[in-house]
Amino acid sequence: MSGFNDVEFGDEGRCPDCSGDLFRPGPRGGLAQNVECTACKSRFNVTRLERRHCKPDYTGPLPIVWAQRIPSDSEWSEAMYPKVAYKLNEMPEVWQW
Ligand SMILES: [Zn+2]
Repeated sequence: MSGFNDVEFGDEGRCPDCSGDLFRPGPRGGLAQNVECTACKSRFNVTRLERRHCKPDYTGPLPIVWAQRIPSDSEWSEAMYPKVAYKLNEMPEVWQW
């Protein structure tokens, strides 16, 4: 898929571009959540396992199975996507899917 690159957030969930650790949740669909780095505004599509795919006693952040860069030029309406910031692994699970 030209124009998309797989990216690596590492265990701490830091921005691959600027090492920032705060992200704004954006559109989501299926198992994927779009996020925007609050520091450099790079955007990524992050796909995580579902809770039901984890061991029953696992309470940590849902593991990232795939992440890719997405364009940063579309508008994320503040009405739909408030300018709140979370650490990637601490987003409320409603946003993690
Ligand atoms: Zn960044």
